[in-house]
Amino acid sequence: MYGNGKVKRVLPLNGQRPTTEGMDIAVIGTGHVGLPTCVTLGALGHTVTGLDEDAQKIELLQAGSVPFFEPGLEELLCQGISQGRLTFSVDAETALPGKDVVFICVGTPAREDGSANLLAVETAARTVARFATGPVVVVEKSTVPAGTAHWVRRALAQERPDIRFQVVSNPEFLREGQAIEDSLHPDRILVGADSLAAFEKMRQLYAPLLSEGYQLIETDIETAELSKHACNAFLAMKISFANALARICERAGADVTAVTRVMGADARIGHMFLAAGLGYGGYCFPKDLQAFHRLAAGLGYDFPLLEEVARINDEAVEAVVQKVEDALWNLENKRVTLLGLAFKPGTNDTRFSPALILARRLIEKKSHVVGYDPQVPDATSQVPGLEQAHDLYAAAEGADCVVLCTDWPEFRAIDLWRLRNIMAYPVFVDGRNLLDPEQMRAAGFTYYSTGRPVVQDYQFEIASAEAEGEQIVPQGRAT
Ligand code: NAD
Repeated sequence: MYGNGKVKRVLPLNGQRPTTEGMDIAVIGTGHVGLPTCVTLGALGHTVTGLDEDAQKIELLQAGSVPFFEPGLEELLCQGISQGRLTFSVDAETALPGKDVVFICVGTPAREDGSANLLAVETAARTVARFATGPVVVVEKSTVPAGTAHWVRRALAQERPDIRFQVVSNPEFLREGQAIEDSLHPDRILVGADSLAAFEKMRQLYAPLLSEGYQLIETDIETAELSKHACNAFLAMKISFANALARICERAGADVTAVTRVMGADARIGHMFLAAGLGYGGYCFPKDLQAFHRLAAGLGYDFPLLEEVARINDEAVEAVVQKVEDALWNLENKRVTLLGLAFKPGTNDTRFSPALILARRLIEKKSHVVGYDPQVPDATSQVPGLEQAHDLYAAAEGADCVVLCTDWPEFRAIDLWRLRNIMAYPVFVDGRNLLDPEQMRAAGFTYYSTGRPVVQDYQFEIASAEAEGEQIVPQGRAT
């Protein structure tokens, strides 16, 4: 029995390639985590059945189509189906019997009090038990609070006292938009278990990755469960730190992108997740931070740092609302274009997207908000009053202000002259610091970014200077 939170073993197994036999696996929940899990386990040589209660999703998957945008997903899905390694079903009675390993990948949304709602995890565990025909390793891949495995084990035993189940925690660290890359080339594979047999089963399952040298970290179950919350909370904290810095830089006239470049060059800090902007969103960070906070409180430890991280994240959206207000004076009836609606680039996921939170705030203030996103076909049902265009320039036509909300790489290539000419006024708020201030100035924009000085277009500067009786020479221009 492994305990005391110690990491028991860090593999790779000295490079030797273990002999692997494909296992018969089921994955419950074929969403943003479950579906990449299905296709990558198929690609590793296992036979996988994806089970979901959403019949429409399963119908799509059976036809080889993906229900959401994720680079590389559709190719691996079609490959797995054509090799006979992947099947999908809504029927637990046919999908679950005879499986060696069942992954639970269902949602764990926040309850109103912030704690994780684990009803879908319980339902999945009871379903596994009902249809098990022999010993099964039940793997928690959903993000759950430390201690959940205990409840999973209890539910399994209540349903089927005649079967010996092993419960394993194997948290998922993939990033949406890079899910396949992350699953096939993981930074680490984390397995928490309490029996040698369960560890051995998971080593066999991941043997093709271990033989390539990917790191396996083995711990007790509570440590594995808690590690996932710790990682997400820490990453969210880095983002909020950068955003708090941005607020100070704006007041001090400093440049947050330079400050974070200096910080990130320190190997102890690192560059990733230090970008100031509209803040984090998506299905994981907001709810995981709350769930971790609730878990800590339930264990008798007050962890106010986590609340502060969330507060600074909310403030990041308010800071952009304030910039739009500073730029436009009155927001009523102004046309504001939002570039990017997904919570980050590489995905069409809009769950808890800062762009949609911003849209709601601007609509509350009576602006006319038009969104555009290269991958989100229609977010209008999520934000009453939001209009959506299917072309960037159509979205910006006649706009009083454009706000860049998601740092899609293609927004770097915006034709600034064209944009400027179709807008009512050339005002641009960059919520991701994606664009270059000097290029924006040269293209004639008044440019507000995050944690960097406001850039006024030349004409505005000249007009203001003339009003002050001064003479100014635009930077980069010969006298
Ligand atoms: P999702 O909403 O995209 O997918 C969940 C799927 O589970 C849905 O298709 C739903 O229909 C299905 N489902 C729910 N209850 C079911 C049941 N009883 N039987 C069968 N199917 C059922 O959610 P997701 O983004 O894939 O997240 C799943 C879990 O993974 C969460 O705990 C999340 O925190 C965690 N996670 C998510 C990410 C991410 O980037 N999205 C990354 C790491 C971990």
